[in-house]
Amino acid sequence: MPYALTAKEKGFKGIFIPVENADEAALVEGIDVLPVKSLSRIVDYFSGFSDLKPHQRKPEPVSGLADHGIDFSEVRGQLHAKRALEIAAAGFHNILMTGPPGSGKSMLAKRLPTILPEMTFPEAIEVARIYSILGLIDGKRPFSPARPFRSPHHTISDAGLVGGGSKPVPGEITLAHNGVLFLDELPEFKKNVLEVLRQPLEDGKVSIARAGMNTVYPSKFMLVAAMNPCPCGYLSDPHGKCTCTRPQIQKYRSKISGPLLDRIDIRIEVPKVPYKDLGSGSRGEASAVIRKRVDRARRMQAARFSKSGIAGNSMIQGRHLKQFCRLDTECEQILEKAVDILGFSARACHSILRTARTIADLDDTADIKRRHMAEAIQLRSFR
Ligand SMILES: [Zn+2]
Repeated sequence: MPYALTAKEKGFKGIFIPVENADEAALVEGIDVLPVKSLSRIVDYFSGFSDLKPHQRKPEPVSGLADHGIDFSEVRGQLHAKRALEIAAAGFHNILMTGPPGSGKSMLAKRLPTILPEMTFPEAIEVARIYSILGLIDGKRPFSPARPFRSPHHTISDAGLVGGGSKPVPGEITLAHNGVLFLDELPEFKKNVLEVLRQPLEDGKVSIARAGMNTVYPSKFMLVAAMNPCPCGYLSDPHGKCTCTRPQIQKYRSKISGPLLDRIDIRIEVPKVPYKDLGSGSRGEASAVIRKRVDRARRMQAARFSKSGIAGNSMIQGRHLKQFCRLDTECEQILEKAVDILGFSARACHSILRTARTIADLDDTADIKRRHMAEAIQLRSFR
């Protein structure tokens, strides 16, 4: 499929493909895929001795809900975290969850794709193309509408994460393209590995230089990170189980650099669910219900940014902040107060504005209101 797509982009009318790969390549529309068993069949074709016909295979339409096998309704309690993930999904914001072991951070993260909008056909093609390069494509369902979810272990190398090697191959961030990259136990990742994330987080693509060749892979993903509040994990434990010293905690947290944190708009605390909430019979809201709200907020953004080429609220930068995240006097005052009391930097304020924009979109309002600002500040208050 990548060959067929490339040939089409270069203006070729047809491409010869080994018979075994014809089904996959024929998913690309607008180019003739000619399946051959041997090179002599190509010679026959050009000598006029062949009745070789383009291979036909209709792509399966991208439709119907993706079956994830998991659902947000299975998560008990954690209303604050669920709301934060809904906002993150609606605006494509990166999010950091801090909480003790067993608070359900990874359970929540894994369910994020179930509330994200399904991929459009062009998005699904982009993803299928990447998976095809690595031979990971699902032949039966090459264009699944479900967004990718990747969760590499913290022992991963920088080449494994962003791609590379003597013969460059895409890394985890490219496999997460159009989907979610979940980094559990963020401070445990090697420092140099976290640093290489910065450029792709900004540009939505990664370029790898090897032996004089430059390869660019797409990597537009949503970063979901999780960490413990301290090395032992029990800093916020009400029974004082934490055994860490202050310098140990500081060292642990400083492993995540400021510039990386700057790219994470939403940072929340995920406490352990009290026993009484775990046992309560009430199920949470279903993913399909949440996704409807997310879809609507995304449509508002698509309409708003149709002329400015911005992908979503999380990508609003510079002069666009003033244009799209306008505040009334009351909201200005709230932000000013937050800066004075909580010591927010200019970058933090930008994050808050972007998040407030998304909350207003979820609320179906054109203007950012006081309640949106207050919630956005709350979503930024935790390191
Ligand atoms: Zn501790």
